[in-house]
Amino acid sequence: MCGIVGVIGNDNAAPRIIEGLRRLEYRGYDSAGLATLVNGGFDLRRAEGKLAQLEELVAARPVSGALGIGHTRWATHGVPSESNAHPHATERVAVVHNGIIENFQNLRDELSAEGHEFATDTDTEVVTHLIDFFLKQGLAPADATARALKRLEGAFALGIIFAGEHDVLIGARRGAALAVGHGEGEMFLASDAMALAPFTR
Ligand code: GLU
Repeated sequence: MCGIVGVIGNDNAAPRIIEGLRRLEYRGYDSAGLATLVNGGFDLRRAEGKLAQLEELVAARPVSGALGIGHTRWATHGVPSESNAHPHATERVAVVHNGIIENFQNLRDELSAEGHEFATDTDTEVVTHLIDFFLKQGLAPADATARALKRLEGAFALGIIFAGEHDVLIGARRGAALAVGHGEGEMFLASDAMALAPFTR
């Protein structure tokens, strides 16, 4: 079981994403990553290994942005590696995922036929490309996500952010936990409420 943290607030999201992920370390993981929205585009950092590696990366190349998602991965599809670490992003959407998409191969074949190019071995990447597919058709983030969710089989929790959408953080779950935290002018997502204890009750 991996960990998801999402933050939409007023100041720098990255330190709080990392703090939340640290409180989910007990669940076990093999790699970690985060993405924030900066000037409408994604800024990604991903590292194989422990959170300390991700922190080193962020210390060397700081990340700004008040909206972001983070992940600790327990690999089920594809080896633990930087490129398989979440978030998985296209230019339109970035996704972190806990769980398994059972029908990922069918979806991957379908999307490949539509011209989507896959860069990882994960089941998760089909979620990114499926939402991207609906965004390209002109659907708004929530509608594109809803359409994509209808096609997914399996148990999962998802954290999703969108290029150019500084006010949108979407969480979705089916058969996996995802807590929503309300703060003062900010909101959070996490795989369990304990991860959010420093930020909100
Ligand atoms: N199935 C996904 C992967 O292998 C997510 C695993 C997890 O829950 O961390 O990347």
